[in-house]
Amino acid sequence: MERVIIIGSGPAGLTAAVYAARANLAPLVLAGGMYGGQLMLTTEVENYPGFPGGIMGPDLMMKFREQAEHFGARIENVDVIDVDFGGQPLIVRTAEQEYHAASVIIATGASARWLDIPGEELLRGRGVSTCATCDGAFFRDKRIVVVGGGDSAMEEALFLTRFGSKVTVIHRRDSLRASKIMAERALSHEKIDFIWNTGVEAVLGTTQMTGLRLKNLVDGTVSEFDADALFIAIGHTPNTAIFAGQIDLDAAGYILSPNGTNTNVEGVFVGGDVNDLRYKQAITAAGSGCKAAMDAEKYLEAHEFAMRETVL
Ligand code: NAP
Repeated sequence: MERVIIIGSGPAGLTAAVYAARANLAPLVLAGGMYGGQLMLTTEVENYPGFPGGIMGPDLMMKFREQAEHFGARIENVDVIDVDFGGQPLIVRTAEQEYHAASVIIATGASARWLDIPGEELLRGRGVSTCATCDGAFFRDKRIVVVGGGDSAMEEALFLTRFGSKVTVIHRRDSLRASKIMAERALSHEKIDFIWNTGVEAVLGTTQMTGLRLKNLVDGTVSEFDADALFIAIGHTPNTAIFAGQIDLDAAGYILSPNGTNTNVEGVFVGGDVNDLRYKQAITAAGSGCKAAMDAEKYLEAHEFAMRETVL
């Protein structure tokens, strides 16, 4: 029987692990096969306090992990495939094992969204990607397209200028959602140009991407655009499929927590992007992971006191 199981190992999960470990709860972190969360797929993080010169996302996550382990968190790189929150103990299953816990902190984060257009799946890894850090270097001196108008799209586009001969951002509207500073950097970059009011309708190519079919969303004209790579940066979906039917989710699939980090299930707490549609920052995820661990600690104190009283 575990006192607290933490599902997820991004900034929220590992901050929860640091706090729970320092509270002597010996947390078990089920970190996922692809541990570390979204920062493992990013480049320079310039807005995490404490690193005035910036830090690479994967390096930051290794520091989080080291700190959690230093205080006694046990971290297993396994995927949770199923939970049963029908009563105590709370049950968490991986392919190999079933775990029982008095409390659970969900910090499973969110995943990159895809466009769901013809050719996208076929040409994944052959030109189509959601991770510039991972795949950008394959497209040295090539024509690169980024889809999206948010901070992620600008960040990807700026990063990709290191490799591409030209980077074209295609956005479905005529103005960017990205923050002013990121938008200005991209708009003023000599290697980046923009195609506005345009949707990507299909990825072209058979064994390797050769171009895109585009549709102007104002006048409906369809055209072809030669390009070697497509980086999709159109936001994220919360990773909550395993919790459907077990815990209250909103219409978009985010975990509901109307009262702090508490979910509707007693003993189950939540932190990070999995219930944050609004801020989605490493620092806000870390902060909510801290709160979830503190709430779990208080819950366990009361719960274990009540259990002792019952036994006596
Ligand atoms: P986002 O802010 O939700 O932006 C998603 C973009 O993709 C929007 O421009 C959206 O268009 C477009 N889009 C969505 N679905 C689409 C579709 N099916 N087809 C075409 N375009 C589509 O997501 P994000 O850029 O990933 O950023 C998420 C959060 O992380 C934000 O709060 C952001 O500030 C933060 N972030 C910060 C940094 C940084 O500060 N360095 C870096 C990355 C992310 P519309 O504009 O028309 O909706």
